[in-house]
Amino acid sequence: YAACDLNGQLRGKRTLASDVNKLSEGTARLPLSVLNLDLWGEDIEDSPLLFDTGDADGILRPTGRGPVPMPWLTNPSELHPMWVFLEDGTPFEGDPRHALDRVLSKFRDKGLSVLAATELEFYLCDGAELLRPPKNPLTGSPLKRSEITGLQTLDAFDAFFTDLYDACAAMEIPAQTTISEGGIGQFEVNLTHQDAMKAADDTWLFKHMVKGLARKHGMAATFMAKPYDEDAGSGLHVHFSVMGEAGHNIFDDCTARGALALHHAVAGCLKAMTPSTLIFAPHLNSYARLQPGSHAPTAICWGYENRSTALRIPGGPPAARRIEHRVPGGDINPYLMLTAILGAAINGIEAEHMPSPPITGNAYNQNLPQLAGDWQTAIDLFSTSSEIAGIFPATLIENLTRTKRQELAKFAALSETDALGLALERV
Ligand code: GLU
Ligand code: MG
Ligand code: MG
Repeated sequence: YAACDLNGQLRGKRTLASDVNKLSEGTARLPLSVLNLDLWGEDIEDSPLLFDTGDADGILRPTGRGPVPMPWLTNPSELHPMWVFLEDGTPFEGDPRHALDRVLSKFRDKGLSVLAATELEFYLCDGAELLRPPKNPLTGSPLKRSEITGLQTLDAFDAFFTDLYDACAAMEIPAQTTISEGGIGQFEVNLTHQDAMKAADDTWLFKHMVKGLARKHGMAATFMAKPYDEDAGSGLHVHFSVMGEAGHNIFDDCTARGALALHHAVAGCLKAMTPSTLIFAPHLNSYARLQPGSHAPTAICWGYENRSTALRIPGGPPAARRIEHRVPGGDINPYLMLTAILGAAINGIEAEHMPSPPITGNAYNQNLPQLAGDWQTAIDLFSTSSEIAGIFPATLIENLTRTKRQELAKFAALSETDALGLALERV
């Protein structure tokens, strides 16, 4: 069983199948500092969560999703996704899944629900060497660059992707399309639109599963935002729309009312975007991805059918109108990412904010407000922002800020190779 830590990793324990029935009785426990990473690294003397509070256990309770098979393991085992409560039964505010649930309840209170779809870009790498492209599984020779969406590369990785679709079916993760992406060994899998909490759960499980399956095939997989200086970064775009009571998409802009709802949500997302950079770019390496001309955004702006903007409104029928948020990298925590995006959107809808006009043309060349440009700035902005305080619980803001400050200090003290190895472990 496992719960999600602040970096989106699975943290939990292996137990006996005969003990599974006890999981709903509160017997599964972990120190809260483990889930909030306050012990990260060796600097435990600087560990306020541990020493100031005594570091009580959190109680892990099933999310209702499990058991989920783990087809990447050789023995039949199952995973029970959990979320975290305090001894008195209240949700642990530092649990990312509870943060998302809190934001989704704001929608529920208005009779609204959210549909979300994630697009996961990742690299398959050589299994033996840290960050080298994989061999072509058919020929055994080094993989060459192929055209984006070229089917030849997909054919070459047929065995891996057949396993991946089978694993998704077994785990009830609705994988839809896969493409070969621009980088050498880079792929993108799109999950179908679905309930936003399920989309977060599936994105969390999918990342773990892909890494396991890659190992099974003698490779490694990474969702690092920018594993190679000279090659494309990996994004994790989110498409979302909001359904009203009758199952009607409130962003359907064939009416003025629908257009207004879309504009309010866009404005909310733009307003919270700069201080949310830490959520979309949580690691040192994330900032190498957000560069001009990279297909990853740098400016706070929106546009119709424009892939240089942070928010893209895709074309298609108005009844399927949605917002594509292009800022998050592959290295995000899916719960925190959806909390930041949907929390900002609902605040924009409630306050009836209006956005600056949509931009046309190349967003990289225009004089526009920018995302936080580096990790330190992003941490500072996140920790003090009133927009963030209006989206995330105070405990989570404090613990994430502490964790990121610890990580920043740790990375600053490492050699480039050690920093890379550590970064790979974190995502
Ligand atoms: N790889 C790009 C990124 O880092 C996105 C490419 C695309 O539009 O799919 O966000
Ligand atoms: Mg892509
Ligand atoms: Mg996309």
